[in-house]
Amino acid sequence: MPAADDAKTAEQAGGTVGGGAGRPERGVERSLGPSSLAVHGGIRLDSTRALKTPLVMSNSFALPDDPSEISWSATAPNLYTRNSGVNQVALERKLAALEHGEDAVVLASGVAALHAVFFTHVRAGDHVVVSDVVYEATWRLWTELLPRRYGIQATFVDVTDADAVRAALRPETVLVCVEAIANPTTKVADIALLAEIAHAAGAVLMVDSTFTPPPFYRPLEDGADLVVHSLTKYINGHGDAMGGAVVGRSELIEPIKADAMVDVGGIVSPFNAWMIQRGSVTLPLRLRQHFASAQRVAEFLEADRRVAFVAYPGLESHPGHEVARRQFGGHAYGGMMAFAVEGDPDAQNRFVAQLRLITSGFSLGHDDSLIVHTAADGPRTATYPEPFRRYGHLRLSVGLEDAEDLLADLEAALDATFPTAG
Ligand SMILES: *Cc1c(COP(=O)(O)O)cnc(C)c1O
Repeated sequence: MPAADDAKTAEQAGGTVGGGAGRPERGVERSLGPSSLAVHGGIRLDSTRALKTPLVMSNSFALPDDPSEISWSATAPNLYTRNSGVNQVALERKLAALEHGEDAVVLASGVAALHAVFFTHVRAGDHVVVSDVVYEATWRLWTELLPRRYGIQATFVDVTDADAVRAALRPETVLVCVEAIANPTTKVADIALLAEIAHAAGAVLMVDSTFTPPPFYRPLEDGADLVVHSLTKYINGHGDAMGGAVVGRSELIEPIKADAMVDVGGIVSPFNAWMIQRGSVTLPLRLRQHFASAQRVAEFLEADRRVAFVAYPGLESHPGHEVARRQFGGHAYGGMMAFAVEGDPDAQNRFVAQLRLITSGFSLGHDDSLIVHTAADGPRTATYPEPFRRYGHLRLSVGLEDAEDLLADLEAALDATFPTAG
């Protein structure tokens, strides 16, 4: 089948599913529920009528015979895979649908997506306001790479302190950069309030929503301008592909495609886009299990006197609990928590070594539960709450195992770590 036909389906940016190759239109995406959107959003039948979007590894596409039909726009579909490809476009459409956004761009990793926002929308001489708790690479970009190499000033603030955020804004501030639930402390940002503050100063609000994927939370609906995801985490969900995305209004996404995707080239491979698209089908279903188990695990840990502290937004003891309850609808609080066991600094390592089901490893939002230890004294930890600076912390991503098995694993590891105190 000539590429022109795929190009046409890829160009139909309207809000319908189906509709390709003679298939009847099945409804407006916005009217579908979140689980239906995760199944059908952005998916169109191509000329093969395959029910599942085929994996198209081709890096180039046949041009139309009539050169006047060729679109040379930077992101023309089905021209060259760095400009866009079948599987990239399918994933972009689904993510835009899930976030209730206008457009999306997918890139090689979450970090590539963050860089794409900064590279495209911030210039030398500009100023940005960044949360004092952000993902490690975001921290390094704004403490080292971007200020030193490109003369972009960043001010780090406690984003739960509205006055501090207002005070940090300058006439040349173009971007406010936060995480809805921050990695790793689980600090909760009030996105509607921050959007109001950023917009009053003429700045764009970017929310890294990796800990708070749709349909659990949609920052655009609270006034955020750009939403970033590490697709590597919950959205793919199975720990076997890396990717990143930015979602928002077309006027903000188009320049990212033209500058950061086409001209810098950090594209996601078609295979990874296909894998992530497949993984995302069960996202709403998976999140229910992740979040219900996380609440039980957090309550279990908090009730055990061998545990020094637990930071989880679903606990009433969490300083951001009220904001989280209002912002996330009061039913769930995410699948991520940080905690530490009592004892000397090495107690955290001894505890982790006793776990049998929960695996020590980076990443999060996978089917398997993952835990990672960070020591108390690091360059980033100065802004963390007091118990993080005293004990260090264990970041736990609660997976899809049965909650009872996770509780049993944690309990057995506590018993083995504290043989007399138990
Ligand atoms: C993992 C992560 C990233 C980076 O994503 P990669 O896909 O690993 O590049 C960005 N932000 C947050 C909050 C993350 O947890």
